[in-house]
Amino acid sequence: MELHESAFGFEIDRIVDEIEDRGCDKVGLQFPQGLKRRATTVVDTLEDRTDARFYVSGDPCYGACDLDEWLMRNTEILVHFGHSPIEDSKDVLYVKSRSDAPIEGITREATEELDASEPVCLVTTAQHSHVFEEARELLVDEGFEVVSSGGGNRLENEGQVLGCNYTSVVPEAPQVLYLGGGDFHPVGLAMDHPDKLLVVADPVNDKVHEVDGEKFIRQRYAEISRARDVDPDRWGVLLSTKIGQRREEIAQYILDNYDDTYLITMDEVTQDRLLHFDADAYVNTACPRITTDDGPRYNDPVLTRTEFEIAVGERDWDELSFDTFHGAW
Ligand code: SF4
Repeated sequence: MELHESAFGFEIDRIVDEIEDRGCDKVGLQFPQGLKRRATTVVDTLEDRTDARFYVSGDPCYGACDLDEWLMRNTEILVHFGHSPIEDSKDVLYVKSRSDAPIEGITREATEELDASEPVCLVTTAQHSHVFEEARELLVDEGFEVVSSGGGNRLENEGQVLGCNYTSVVPEAPQVLYLGGGDFHPVGLAMDHPDKLLVVADPVNDKVHEVDGEKFIRQRYAEISRARDVDPDRWGVLLSTKIGQRREEIAQYILDNYDDTYLITMDEVTQDRLLHFDADAYVNTACPRITTDDGPRYNDPVLTRTEFEIAVGERDWDELSFDTFHGAW
């Protein structure tokens, strides 16, 4: 089976042009988990149209932060599918996967949950960024004032969100409309902006719903309390070796300023890997969603830097905030 241009939203012609222009012999291909099943079809298509050899990364991939560094060293270009760039690199070609789900019906339906007398901040993911302006016009047509922002340096498009960066939410807007599928971003938005009305317009599953951030915030308070109850003798400080999750300055700061802290490096942070250590709790400086989404299921408490500082009494409880990831790498 072969792909035609833009099948699955992939830009096959652009990839072929890039390979030919650069005269590449070896090309790395990297897919997020949900797109790995497309890999062999993409290889068939590209082999038919170029003379290059293709190496598909089999390692887990959760974001644009998560580049296969072996492939970067051993091929002439790495084609990274499914995410928008968080850092320009001449050796990486980012190829987005665009959703073709229609948005008009779901966007108009979502306005019934919003207050037309207040501005609404519109946000979306890279998969829907090509319909961002269409969504804005629909909201304006429904009588809304729409605000948006370009966000921080990890975000390529207007109104874009990342699981570790929701800075595209305009602080003054009392309500947010998230256009996109799944629960991952609604949870992150709710944790980072618990004070705002958050409405989800999900064009993939064709549903509209509200998200309440309170329960996620309560979960973080519970994790800090769990760490305080344990009163750890030893804290493991987790430093990711992944290129876009490597926050060495934060890890180093903790080691320099707090006793009984030990640096532990790993690419993928998992419960199984932590089982072998004798630390009583962990500070995670890698992807913040490991802490917030997976951490509560780990045997030992896993906190963000700010949560750690609350747990050891260095900060007040009301300083709790979502662990936003600003830098690229
Ligand atoms: S750090 Fe985590 S949330 Fe941020 S882009 Fe990477 S995988 Fe996604």
